[in-house]
Amino acid sequence: AKSAGGNRFELADPEADARAITRHGLTTALPAALDRGEFFIEYQPLVHLGDGSVRGAEALVRWLHPQHGVLGPDRFIPLAEHTGLIVPLGRWVLEESVRQAGEWRERGGDSDPFRINVNLSPCQLTHPGLVQDTVDILERAGVAPEALCLEVTESALIGADDDLLKPLRRLAEMGVDIALDDFGTGYSNLANLRRLPVSVLKLDRSFTQGMQQFPADPVDLKIVEGIVSLAHSLNLAVTVEGVETGAQAEQLRILGCDTAQGWYYARPGPPDRLHQLALVDATG
Ligand code: C2E
Ligand code: CA
Ligand code: CA
Ligand code: CA
Repeated sequence: AKSAGGNRFELADPEADARAITRHGLTTALPAALDRGEFFIEYQPLVHLGDGSVRGAEALVRWLHPQHGVLGPDRFIPLAEHTGLIVPLGRWVLEESVRQAGEWRERGGDSDPFRINVNLSPCQLTHPGLVQDTVDILERAGVAPEALCLEVTESALIGADDDLLKPLRRLAEMGVDIALDDFGTGYSNLANLRRLPVSVLKLDRSFTQGMQQFPADPVDLKIVEGIVSLAHSLNLAVTVEGVETGAQAEQLRILGCDTAQGWYYARPGPPDRLHQLALVDATG
């Protein structure tokens, strides 16, 4: 359809029209959806590659839309970023997932430090309330800053100046971990890593995909090996995402990656399921 008529043709394309209307419809529905509590969070476990124990979870937001059903974040996060609604929505995700983490900790005892990872949009980084909101949320939930990891994409920090990094530095000084999400997809200068207040690299799924065959592609192996050794030399932990098979997990473990996340262990799911996984794990 694209080759048939360029832009003019696309405007007349009923499907494209429907998509645009939906986009517009979703955008205008966002604020009321937040008021009505139509968002919910699924949790995906973070697993220690060395011993297979569940160490925490990443919070992933979804929208239960009254007409369209469950929508994934890729459908509405960009819209929320565009309108600025991401600031209150992101604050809600942080509040709710930290509250949930506090509940898990209470039920599980604090023998094993259970951590919660929350995604932060670039718009939230530039919002002046970020640090105080985070402090308040942790306090209300009785959760230590050390139990929270905020994930920021590599692209959000490319060329970041000091003003943008200041709130992240304050949070890091408090003990909050900062993870560089989707690492390896941007063009960040590796030397630049030293300047950023990050303590975790999350290797993008594309690297994990290169580990699908056993043995993996030798060039992929070299690249991941290099990233892991650089990360460790800078005292950064390495988390890998998108692990779908045991072979991938095994190769990434051999390469020295610390933590893994992916369908091989569990899909994102409701909070109770995650609690069960962690309990099963704790009892062996
Ligand atoms: P992300 O932070 O890179 O999150 C990982 C995505 O990979 C999630 O998609 C997760 O469901 C998916 N995934 C996990 N394991 C596997 C696997 O083994 N194979 C494959 N193919 N995929 C896997 P999801 O939930 O659709 O989230 C998409 C993106 O939306 C996230 O990417 C993140 O950038 C964004 N997002 C999600 N929740 C939030 C939020 O609360 N705030 C903000 N700002 N962004 C969010
Ligand atoms: Ca993430
Ligand atoms: Ca990611
Ligand atoms: Ca991603």
